[in-house]
Amino acid sequence: MVIVGWCKKFQKAIIKVISAMTQQNNANLSIDFHVHVDERVKYWQIPNVLRVRELDGVGILTHNSFRFAKKIVDKFKEKDKKKIYFAGVEIDTADGHLIAYGIDQEIPRDRSSEETVEIIRDLGGVSIIPHPFMSHNSIGWKSYIVKADAMEFYNGFAKIFLNFPNYMAEVSFRHNSFGKVGGSDAHFAQAVGTCYTLVDTDGVRTEEEILEALRKHKTIPKINPIDFYDIRNFIAVVFTPKTDRRIIRF
Ligand SMILES: [Zn+2]
Ligand SMILES: [Zn+2]
Repeated sequence: MVIVGWCKKFQKAIIKVISAMTQQNNANLSIDFHVHVDERVKYWQIPNVLRVRELDGVGILTHNSFRFAKKIVDKFKEKDKKKIYFAGVEIDTADGHLIAYGIDQEIPRDRSSEETVEIIRDLGGVSIIPHPFMSHNSIGWKSYIVKADAMEFYNGFAKIFLNFPNYMAEVSFRHNSFGKVGGSDAHFAQAVGTCYTLVDTDGVRTEEEILEALRKHKTIPKINPIDFYDIRNFIAVVFTPKTDRRIIRF
């Protein structure tokens, strides 16, 4: 009888843990905040990749202009009502890359990172410092004085460098007042979701709530172990000739 009692208690504890985990999963959306679309990316595959990787949504970016990203997002929204798509821009500031979401006009490039953050905020947008220690195109130590809403602590591209740029970000800035996000930096559709972010929106599935959660730092960055698609993404970025052609293909 004692054993039966213990078994029942054990069973109850297991159910409690599982339901707590399920509730947490329901409250949190899994979002990849750093996905590029350009001429080289087979972006029409992205909705399928989201299904396979069980992600809820994706922030779509183009470098220095959000218009192409917006066009692609509008197409995705038309075709796929189940997932969440929103557009942004990864801007070249004078100090390095900066991501903006929630804006509806172009952000000038080559300004200082502090000024660019202010411009984004004045337009009602949200700013993220991506890959702070990746290379010449990163804001680096200057991030200390840049009042962005969030920082990318896990960048998919950094996995190729044994995550060293990610560790640098975590060690340097984890106690600064940045929301923490993860993003794949995918320039190759199948690499979407190799890093992503859990976003607590109380189950609301809108762009506005996701960006509000970013502002309130209600985010947890996540990183998957390195796989073939990370390597393929690295090759796509480094060895494929760059092009500015932006053509809608579906
Ligand atoms: Zn970048
Ligand atoms: Zn990028």
